[in-house]
This record gives sequence, structure tokens and C-alpha cells, in this order.
Amino acid sequence: MDRDAILLTPGPLTTTLRTKLAMLRDWGSWDADFIAMTAELRRRLLAIVHADVDGKGAYAVVPLQGSGTFAVEAAVASVVPPPEQAGHLLVLDNGAYCKRLGRLATLMGRRTTILGHAEDAPVSADDLEAALRTDPSISHVGFIHCETGTGVLNPLQAVSDVCLRHGKGLIVDAMSSFAALPIDTRELTFDALIAASGKCLEGVPGMGFVFLRKAVLAGCEGRSHSLAMDLFDQHSYLEKTGQWRFTPPTHVMAALLEALRQFDEEGGQPARLARYTDNCRTLLDGLTALGLTPFLRPEVQAPIIVTWHAPAQANYDFKRFYEAAKRRGFLLYPGKLTQVETFRVGCIGAIDRSEMQQAVNAIGEALREMGLAR
Ligand SMILES: *Cc1c(COP(=O)(O)O)cnc(C)c1O
Repeated sequence: MDRDAILLTPGPLTTTLRTKLAMLRDWGSWDADFIAMTAELRRRLLAIVHADVDGKGAYAVVPLQGSGTFAVEAAVASVVPPPEQAGHLLVLDNGAYCKRLGRLATLMGRRTTILGHAEDAPVSADDLEAALRTDPSISHVGFIHCETGTGVLNPLQAVSDVCLRHGKGLIVDAMSSFAALPIDTRELTFDALIAASGKCLEGVPGMGFVFLRKAVLAGCEGRSHSLAMDLFDQHSYLEKTGQWRFTPPTHVMAALLEALRQFDEEGGQPARLARYTDNCRTLLDGLTALGLTPFLRPEVQAPIIVTWHAPAQANYDFKRFYEAAKRRGFLLYPGKLTQVETFRVGCIGAIDRSEMQQAVNAIGEALREMGLAR
């Protein structure tokens, strides 16, 4: 069928035609038009976290080429000092993306400690408090807002409060939550908060961005081991010239800007959260009625992505299930848990209840085709 499938994945995800059409031009990276687009993009991003957008507020936003992980890596490299300068990152771990954060920090030689939690529950601000009391050498805390590996929502405000009380830096991976869940710099303090173009802003993938507290940014000069990932340099160059340091992803940025305009027209973060919550409800009701069981308890489920236990029958096979759903126009996502067989269904992207109901119907048909229906 000559029609795009609906992506029920946590990025890339389904985008609007208007967002796709925004990419049908070429821009010069040094040109005044593109410089103005970069400035508008940064203003709109700062507004989402309620930071002052006139350049005088406490936070700056620095865009970076690459997928979301590139921006996480850049944030850790630029913000966490090496061990000889007393940097020590504590990662609150309840899933695959937390482990990725721990791994990238370790690989770049940062002293890293992992505080493990169960995968089916949020990380605990009380455990963090205890860990900080026990080990005063910890300088920074690494935290995933929505752990996309399972879909669990972690307690951002409580963790930020503990870090502030103990004078520790906080690095937030808000990749899959940004623009959908509330993040308000009038109530929260963090050193760095990372998100990307191809998630809840409903742009196309290809760039990330990092909100940095300016008081922290000032001390980041010369810290990054990497030239391309140095957020201090990227920020300085942007401030000086209005341009990205190296070739910007021009089309990705144009699409993101158009996606941001639609985000505002829709009603901003509260409207996006309402739509995704409705998608999530439709999905949970629909697949539960088909006999499937969600991995998480409803109280800890973020309305971003839902992990499902695979059907218990011996003839279940994810690849065949995936293909059966794909033939009906919907792309599912594999599970990421090691202990139990699961699959995931995203609630995000330019879709609403009607597409989600169609997805439920398609999954029901796929299960019947495979002889797995209840
Ligand atoms: C998507 C995502 C990332 C980044 O993944 P990329 O594949 O590099 O774009 C990082 N953290 C979380 C929580 C995510 O959901």
C-alpha cells in the first residue's frame, strides 16, 4: 500500500504532512534566514520549560547534531568533571536507558556509580537521599524522566529537590517526556536537561538539544574530551554568530520549527499530554479487552509508551506478530526487558484516539490470525 504505516514507536514517530513539507527547501547555514530560524527555535524551546527567552534568564538551550544519545553524551562530557577534578556521577537506574547513561559516562572516563532499582517501579528519591548521605564524593546525579525501556514515570520534582538540598548537580534525560509531561524551571532546578527533535515535539529525528543552567555552563569551558560534542563551545559560537559550529541538520531543524508551531497551535504541553493520555487510555482499554496484560501498574505508567507481556501461548513469536500488525499498517516496537518476554506500543506522535483504536483493531486481528486470541 502506498501509504506510510503508523509508527507506534518511541521515535522516530508519525509526523504531520505539514512537518514533512517544511523540509522541501535548501537553506544555507550562514544565511540570515537560517540564523533567524535557529533563534526562533531556541526561543520556542526555552518557552516550553518556562525559562526566560530574552537571553537574561537562568537557562540556555544548546542544539546539537545527532540522535538523542549524542546530546546525552555531550551533556555528561560538558557538565560532569573528570575524576581528577572530583567529578562523580550517580545514575538512578530502573531500565535500559538508565544503563545506557551509566555506560556512556563510564566509557568517557567519568567516575560512575549505579544505584539499581526494580524495572517495574519508579526510582526512589529516598534511596537517592540515603546514597548521597553515605557517599559525599558524589557530585552529580543522572536521572531518566520517563524510562522508555518500560514506560515508567520517574519522580523528577522529588529528585530535583533532593539534589538541590544536597548541592548536587542534576542531569535529566527527558528525551521521551519533554513537551508532553510538565517540566517547569520555575519549580525545578537542574544542571542539564536533554531532549530531541524526533520525540514528543513530533519533529523528525536528527538533532538533540540540552537546556543548561547558565551558572553551570560558565564552568564547562575546556571540560569536554570531544571537539564535536562540546556544549560550551557550541553555545559560545551560537551566541557570537547565531550559527551552529559545524554543519547543522537544516531540514531537521526546519521540520522541528514547523512542529513547534503546531505544538503551540494545539495548546502546548497540556494539550499534548491530554492527547497522549487519551491515546494511552484507548490502548490500555483496547489491548486489555483483547486479553493482554500491561507490564506496569497504572499508577507508575507514563502516557508515552506501554510495555505488554507477550501472549503466553507457545506459538507466540514477536517477528510474526510484528509482520501481521505491519501488514495492517501499524509498526510495533520490541520489548527491552531481559527477564520477561514483552513488546511495546508507543502512544506518542501525530496520532489521536481514532488511529489508536485502529491500532487496537489491527493488533486484535493479528492475534486472531496467529491463533493467539483469547
Ligand atoms: C529515545 C531516547 C533516547 C535517545 O535515543 P536515540 O536513539 O539516541 O535517539 C535517550 N533516552 C531516552 C529516555 C529515550 O527515550
